[in-house]
Amino acid sequence: MALQVKSFGSMSEAAAVLASDRTARFMSGGTLLMRAINEGDTSISMLVRSTDAACRQIGAESARIEIGAGARMVDILANRDLAFLHPAARIVGGPAVRAMATVGGNLFAAAPYGDLATALLALDAIVNVQGPYGGAQQVPIDQFLQSRDRATGLVTSVMVPRPASPDAFRFRKASRVKPKGVSVLSIAANLPLTGGRLSNVRIAYGAMAPTPIRARAVERALEGRSLDAAGIAPALAAATEGTNPATDALASAWYRREVLPVHLRRLLLGQNG
Ligand SMILES: Cc1cc2nc3c(=O)[nH]c(=O)nc-3n(C[C@H](O)[C@H](O)[C@H](O)COP(=O)(O)OP(=O)(O)OC[C@H]3O[C@@H](n4cnc5c(N)ncnc54)[C@H](O)[C@@H]3O)c2cc1C
Repeated sequence: MALQVKSFGSMSEAAAVLASDRTARFMSGGTLLMRAINEGDTSISMLVRSTDAACRQIGAESARIEIGAGARMVDILANRDLAFLHPAARIVGGPAVRAMATVGGNLFAAAPYGDLATALLALDAIVNVQGPYGGAQQVPIDQFLQSRDRATGLVTSVMVPRPASPDAFRFRKASRVKPKGVSVLSIAANLPLTGGRLSNVRIAYGAMAPTPIRARAVERALEGRSLDAAGIAPALAAATEGTNPATDALASAWYRREVLPVHLRRLLLGQNG
């Protein structure tokens, strides 16, 4: 069957077409979708694209930065207001992938992919979704990721709060192939300090479950503690709670759980290596 490609001027038109045809898929950068098609996925008969330029824009006027779903990793890397996201965007694949891979597509990427989504989760981003029949919704990213397989609308943008200070937000990816390997795991942390004590901590893991997840036991264990070896000890003890990693060509589930506390420790103490 021939593959049809249709382009629409607005995300709402694209969403309406997708809702009416189960064999249609929205294509953004296409780094995952085109791979699936080239590998012979015959369940897809139509690719739906949007030419809406607004979906690529990045607006940094307020406390929250709005990143269009069609913004690519290279667009994030070229934006100084998004410097806190550069460590996550910089390690998504190699240069050719980063020139195509979008924020919207990353929210749907199955583990071990989804590094940027992991960073956005630790930042409590809000996902703007355009429904098929005109309605728009704002969904907390945690909720969005848990229900993304059932999502009916299209993501138009994400709203990201700026971290309290440049040092408050940290990201770390463990991979076997340097510098552009896929994640064994990734960790993002938002660590606001008030009077030397952590408050309102967010920790997110990538590749430790089918979607990026919050490490809620670690968050609880860090609340009110200091960022030193003694302060983080209870958090490290709880590091693997709630995780459900896969065994794949990169690493076994056992290995991922074994190395997680090591990388969490290094991230929290600001250690390299
Ligand atoms: C060689 C290689 C290396 C890679 N390395 C990494 C890596 O290190 N880290 C990482 O995180 N990822 C990696 N990826 C995966 C991928 O490139 C990224 O996750 C990328 O961000 C996906 O975005 P895309 O625009 O290409 O998605 P697409 O392929 O266009 O779409 C992927 C899925 O998301 C859906 N989708 C896309 N945009 C929207 C939207 N706005 N609303 C609703 N649904 C949407 C599509 O319908 C499709 O189901 C790699 C891929 C390749 C091929």
